[in-house]
Amino acid sequence: MNLTYERVQAHLDRLKLRRVAELIDPIAEQATRDKLSYLDFLDRLLDAEAEARAERRMVAKTRLAHFPFVKTISDFDFSFQPTIDKKQVKELATLRFLANGENVILLGPPGVGKTHLAVGLGMEAVAHGANVYFITIPELLDQLSRDTQENRVSERLRSLRHPTLLILDEMGYVPLDRVATSFLFQLVSKRYTKGSIIITSNKSYVEWGSVFGDDVAAAAIIDRLLHYSTTINIRGESYRLKDKKRAGVFATPPPAGSAS
Ligand code: ADP
Ligand code: MG
Repeated sequence: MNLTYERVQAHLDRLKLRRVAELIDPIAEQATRDKLSYLDFLDRLLDAEAEARAERRMVAKTRLAHFPFVKTISDFDFSFQPTIDKKQVKELATLRFLANGENVILLGPPGVGKTHLAVGLGMEAVAHGANVYFITIPELLDQLSRDTQENRVSERLRSLRHPTLLILDEMGYVPLDRVATSFLFQLVSKRYTKGSIIITSNKSYVEWGSVFGDDVAAAAIIDRLLHYSTTINIRGESYRLKDKKRAGVFATPPPAGSAS
């Protein structure tokens, strides 16, 4: 019996069935107590192993995604942001857009939840096994200037082509020079209809020309981004200021003509 036990442990170790190795004793005891069939016993062990692996994969993919914070769609308070169509966000959360390589563009002023929704959709994608990569445009620009010096721009392009979902956050805060504009054009073209992009911006499409410093390139990028896409235009108040407003940090002026 002991020899068999040791051999089983050695097999589990070699086959890297770590969760089975952890659970085999208690589940074997349970099986004896509950008079489980051999098949039910095996089913419980394999179930636990599969679940543990899915969990490990999700942790690894979440780390690789490089999210700035972990927030989900269910953490999002839709009642605070009535201009957002909740049904549209729920539809996106089904991830159908990923299968077709469609894009999502989240527009709106600071603090309205653009990054939160982008990360939430990214987390959903990770939970379904997708490879996701999150990067802000300012971070990308920093990397690009280093890549240019080190002659590695094409490697960067290759690595950003691959994730199932690429999240480009904060387009519009800093202008893009010619190198960055051309890089973005190539990236959007390479991913066109093949790999989804979520892009967030505090600027409307018409203002994107000034971000790129080149209207023709801006038009070409917007054309490809928008062709198969969903735009969510958020026109609301900053969630960050919500509690401050409630606490009266910002005084609300009395309505005109009211007695003071
Ligand atoms: P933006 O990217 O539009 O500037 P963020 O997504 O970074 O805004 O939101 C700012 C903070 O407020 C984040 O911590 C985010 O989780 C939170 N937040 C924004 N909108 C909501 C909301 N409707 N419900 C819950 N949290 C929100
Ligand atoms: Mg943001």
